[in-house]
Amino acid sequence: MPIGKLQVVPLGGCGEFGMNCMAIRWGDDIIVIDAGLMFPEAELLGVDIVVPDISYLIQNRDHVRALILTHGHEDHIGAIPWLLSELNIPVYGTEFTLAYVEDKLDEHGLLDNAVLNEIRPGQGFRIGPFTIEPIQVTHSLVDCVSLAIHTPLGTLIHTGDFKVDPTPSDNRLFDLHAFAEYGKRGVLALFQDSTNVERPGYTPSERAVRARFEHIFSISEKRIFISCFSSSIHRIKLAMEMAAQHNRKVALVGRSMTESTEIAQDLGYIDAPPGLIIHPGQIKDYAPGQVAVLISGTQGEPMSSLSRAAVENHKHAKIEPGDTVILSSRIIPGNEKAIYRVIDHLFRRNAKVFYEDGTKPPLHVSGHASQEELKLIINLVRPQYFIPIHGEYRQLKLHAKLAAEMRGAVGSIFLIESGEILEFDELGARKAGTVPVGRVCIDSGSTGDVVEELIIRDRRHLSEDGFVLPILAINKLTGQVENQPEIVMRGFAGAPADNGFVEQAKQVVLDTLEHSTHEEMSDYGVIKEKIRLDLKRFINKNTQRRPLIMPVILEI
Ligand SMILES: [Zn+2]
Ligand SMILES: [Zn+2]
Repeated sequence: MPIGKLQVVPLGGCGEFGMNCMAIRWGDDIIVIDAGLMFPEAELLGVDIVVPDISYLIQNRDHVRALILTHGHEDHIGAIPWLLSELNIPVYGTEFTLAYVEDKLDEHGLLDNAVLNEIRPGQGFRIGPFTIEPIQVTHSLVDCVSLAIHTPLGTLIHTGDFKVDPTPSDNRLFDLHAFAEYGKRGVLALFQDSTNVERPGYTPSERAVRARFEHIFSISEKRIFISCFSSSIHRIKLAMEMAAQHNRKVALVGRSMTESTEIAQDLGYIDAPPGLIIHPGQIKDYAPGQVAVLISGTQGEPMSSLSRAAVENHKHAKIEPGDTVILSSRIIPGNEKAIYRVIDHLFRRNAKVFYEDGTKPPLHVSGHASQEELKLIINLVRPQYFIPIHGEYRQLKLHAKLAAEMRGAVGSIFLIESGEILEFDELGARKAGTVPVGRVCIDSGSTGDVVEELIIRDRRHLSEDGFVLPILAINKLTGQVENQPEIVMRGFAGAPADNGFVEQAKQVVLDTLEHSTHEEMSDYGVIKEKIRLDLKRFINKNTQRRPLIMPVILEI
């Protein structure tokens, strides 16, 4: 056995939801698996995304050889612009994953300098001392892989995100044979997705949703609005097939939905018959019973197309009494309030709303493996070491416990959290210290801003740019704004004192209010976000500063 130390360091995703990123090091060579983001929690007002602290990679910048991606979900690729703007390393991913990455880099003006290498399941490639073989797996997205990483000390298997779906809608099967084959040859360590470890049994196949969609399509007479994650290619494909069968045209509403569907069509995952897709502007030209609308915004994001349609503020997507709205996605914990607020608005419009309420067959199935699938993979791989990844602490702990019960299939189990170094050598494995990790909050401005404008809202920055609080008093009964909005500024050095800057800012708020519907006004989440965006635009333009803007609404 070669002399040397193999180190595995999760930089995110172990002990927290999202921000998946892992460094693997042998001597002077480091590869990175995934670079994901985390969506900010509600208390991080004014922050758009959260990415992992990559100080460890920056400190070792001369040794970092490549970024290898398991699949195209934001919690695996969302931090790439941030990572590549610090370290311009080559990126490896499957065709579909790279298509998402290209869009993202293009948006941030980073595409020209990026080196993107396509990888395929079953085709190994070499980076320094590592040989990496992607293995085809099934998940809620398409073209996803696990990675077998051959190191001088043995093979590591990183599952990425997966479920074992025997009937995926794209017919690209989970490669159980490959896992079994590696198991036979011997695997040093298995790093496995913990997301659904709390669920007993098996995760239903993506096909399970079809029966429910069929039923809803058969009973709906007016327009059908379907909202799912824009990356749910299987679901978009299903919705289009259903629409075609029921003689409905399909309109795509929302930028992410349109872009994602285009990629899926270009790469052959969705095969829409000619004439099926119409422009959103044409919705009004068809009878309600002849249209289905795929619309983005399943999580109640205040500015999303669905949220705006729900408060009658979307140019093309108008929801009328008797229309059907399907929310085909899971409710991400933390988003419940926002989602139910949108559902309330839809009820107010007298739409028929279908959302995950436990009714069978399901409107949504998870993309992650439940307990029996996790056990199956452990059993096939029979690793010397088992390490749960992708999960909050309790999930990692439960996953470690699940593996511990499989005596004979697993050697030792390590529970490591982000920042902890797991070290292997000829004597075994152990925890060997920590590297700095953490969350970096980024305010990307309006979508489409370039990376140079990314602002890191660390404390230093906050103290430099200060904050701005627009304060409104809204009459709860009438929904009207009572007297003038107040604007409080603290530590905001950029405000020109003399030229009525505060007065202009007040005017911006008044204009925003004037251009809002009654329903938007009564939805504080929406109105706050509109005020924040408009004020931000005004302040950036006039001061080049980016204070934290936190609208406050007082109900009187
Ligand atoms: Zn995923
Ligand atoms: Zn994930």
